[in-house]
Amino acid sequence: MKVLSYPNPVLFHKCKPVTSINQQLRDLIAEMLQTMYEFRGVGLAANQVGYPIQLFVMNETGDFEKPENEYVFINPVILKRKGNQVDQEGCLSFPEIYANVNRAELVEIESIAIDGSIQKFQWKDRPATIVQHEYDHLNGICFVDRLSELSLHEIREELADLKINYEGDVRLGFTPSAEETKKRIADLEKQFCE
Ligand code: ZN
Repeated sequence: MKVLSYPNPVLFHKCKPVTSINQQLRDLIAEMLQTMYEFRGVGLAANQVGYPIQLFVMNETGDFEKPENEYVFINPVILKRKGNQVDQEGCLSFPEIYANVNRAELVEIESIAIDGSIQKFQWKDRPATIVQHEYDHLNGICFVDRLSELSLHEIREELADLKINYEGDVRLGFTPSAEETKKRIADLEKQFCE
């Protein structure tokens, strides 16, 4: 599985809820977990791998040998946010870019688990940051959208480089064009969300 980089349009797409938990979805979740570990991430949202659906995975340790820390969130809703914290964030869709982001210190989140049951969790500190980062992805929001103007200014050259890389990849056919991406999003929404 390939992790799509900024500014791929699927990263700015508002993901739709999943309508059924079937083998296709379970296979996708297994692949996403594997991809997250492969790239040493602590979280991964479905649209980062091209699927425009409400799904993300998390393991705050980033260690595949600690599956007890592995969580799957289908159709998540953040019910409560409390407090404030600033934490340094990175993102697999923004390789080698890190910045401080201000977020809630505690979140309560409800979602569907992989067995179809409803799960409700409270997260604090680092996992709360991860949950909010991934939840943002599903709403088409990237962590750079949460930065102060000063922080954004500090990473402007890295962002410009990612844009140049993306445009080059599209020209060379390594990454689908915006038009093809739109078509693929519509096809996948039909498969997972209807
Ligand atoms: Zn991210």
